[in-house]
Amino acid sequence: MPVILKKDFETSPLSKDEALGILDLNDGDLAELLDAAYALRKKYKGNVVGVQLLTNGRSGNCSQNCAYCAQSREAKSDIETYRLVPYEKLSRDGQAVMEKKLARHCIGLSGIRFSDSEIDEFAAHVRSLKKEAGTHICCSIGFLSPAQAEKLKDAGVNRINHNLNTSRNYYPQICTTHSYDERLANIRMLQGLGFEICSGGIVGLGENKTDVADMLFELRAVNPQSVPINFLLPLKGTALEGSDTSHLTPEYCLKILCLARLLMPKSDIRCAAGREVYLKGREREMFKAVDSIFASGYLTAGGQGIDDTIKIITDAGFEYQQG
Ligand code: SF4
Repeated sequence: MPVILKKDFETSPLSKDEALGILDLNDGDLAELLDAAYALRKKYKGNVVGVQLLTNGRSGNCSQNCAYCAQSREAKSDIETYRLVPYEKLSRDGQAVMEKKLARHCIGLSGIRFSDSEIDEFAAHVRSLKKEAGTHICCSIGFLSPAQAEKLKDAGVNRINHNLNTSRNYYPQICTTHSYDERLANIRMLQGLGFEICSGGIVGLGENKTDVADMLFELRAVNPQSVPINFLLPLKGTALEGSDTSHLTPEYCLKILCLARLLMPKSDIRCAAGREVYLKGREREMFKAVDSIFASGYLTAGGQGIDDTIKIITDAGFEYQQG
């Protein structure tokens, strides 16, 4: 067994060099790495896997230039655009979350800033949804003012997603219209108001392994309740269309998910976009590190239906967590 895997990851946390060592392990050492991740996953999360459903609450027309995003002002993607999803669609998704007993209902809204009246309108939707379906609600909703965040809290939003996306060093390569520090400041403000935080990133943007390790250390410092790790889907019409993702082998993706678990043993580690592409058929191994996944797609990209998603959990020998 590689020396690094003999460590007690809880009493003696990994250094940056050791984290890079994990990403550089030989594929032949993967089984032992998965066992190390599984020991922590089992301790804090048992054998359950939570499933999230994501509704695209506002689509397209974003003023920002995130290179991977089909909703960016630079993207030429052929996507549906709307200012606020009709309540009927939100309600249908909320019912599905309730009926299938999914862990939570996530709602993503494109854009970086919202007017107070837009927040009021969205908060009214959340309030109705809470009354109707009563599910745990998480929103991805740009930068909020403290007053806007309080309104959403009062309406019943439990958790807010705000990803760091990549390392601080690589960030200017993927977005120049807002900064890494603005993202961190938004997260800190929300934590100060008592929100649970979901924060993760995307692998495959052109970053190197040091960037992946740096991003995970930044995330560990944030201490989010959930950490979504996405593997790039190079969407048509985005700046990253045509990106070479051949390095996103199942083994590399699994090492990253394991490293996330070793660094943040108590957080939900979610394998988000790209799961169906890069880890198909490797779910039994993936769930050794991961305790959370999405069903039914990722904003502008399709995914696996709810029943099929539940089936891969039980087929892999894990339990579907009923929310
Ligand atoms: S990721 Fe969000 S902020 Fe960036 S372009 Fe897409 S919708 Fe806009």
